[in-house]
Amino acid sequence: MADLPRLEHRVSIEQHVASPQALQALRTEVEQREREQRDVAARAGQARLAHTSARNAYASARTGFDNWLATRTATTDPAQDPEVLRRTRELDLLEAKRRETQVALESLDREMLDSTQRVAALRERESAMLDDARPALQRARFWQELRVFGARLAVTLPLLVLAGWFWARKRRSDYWPLYRGFVLFAAFTFFFELVPYLPSYGGYVRYAVGVVVTAIVGHYVIKAMRRYLAQRQAVASQTEAQRRGALDADAALKKLAANVCPGCERPVLTTGQAAANFCVHCGLKLFDACGACQTRKNAFFHYCPSCGSSADADAPTAPLPA
Ligand SMILES: [Zn+2]
Ligand SMILES: [Zn+2]
Repeated sequence: MADLPRLEHRVSIEQHVASPQALQALRTEVEQREREQRDVAARAGQARLAHTSARNAYASARTGFDNWLATRTATTDPAQDPEVLRRTRELDLLEAKRRETQVALESLDREMLDSTQRVAALRERESAMLDDARPALQRARFWQELRVFGARLAVTLPLLVLAGWFWARKRRSDYWPLYRGFVLFAAFTFFFELVPYLPSYGGYVRYAVGVVVTAIVGHYVIKAMRRYLAQRQAVASQTEAQRRGALDADAALKKLAANVCPGCERPVLTTGQAAANFCVHCGLKLFDACGACQTRKNAFFHYCPSCGSSADADAPTAPLPA
């Protein structure tokens, strides 16, 4: 039962998109753009590093120059003028380098921003496509669930129906133990293999089956009760001898051993020391005396336990000892 969904393919949202080719193309493009984005990010990282180092170089050169200039002003040595020019040129070069790396970094940052926005727009289009397909997917899932449930029901319901027929018609058959095994199997299959896999609306199915089963069982219980009561009434209208003759001797002995009247199935009672020879409820004779030796004995014994005389109904029985 758990394996039954394998009859079906898994339903995916891609199958319900209006144009699967367009979705595929879109996804390929997203992938490509993301690759580009990663590449730009790597280059921007390197450019940032280069810019930082150029800026640091310029800053340290500038500090050096300022210090040197301060010293020179203090000494005012005219022989140092060419040195001033050389150092200024050097500083200009460093500044140009700093500016160049900054421009490169800014351009890469812009490229990065563009790329991110493009990817976001593509992603949005993709999710819009998938959103459009969602209702169709839900419908498809619902029908698939229904088909799987139908398959499970198609396996378990005939078993249950057949089991019900066996129970109704074959209970007196010699093969009943076999049929009973089948009935138990079918009931188990239905209630333990199907019910856990019921879909969300399957509660109604469960209730419907519960109502039907309750109705059928109730019908049989009431019929059985009526039969039992009718039987009791018929027995009550018979004479004591007729009732005793109709009872099965072995079953009667068993019931008497349990201190229960075999006729009316109520407890055998007595008062004080009096021996319980008759049922106080229905008057059935429970104990009598052997016709030959007068020993008190169970009325359902076929032979006297003391002398072995036959205790058939037509054999004379002595009056009970007082
Ligand atoms: Zn009785
Ligand atoms: Zn006897």
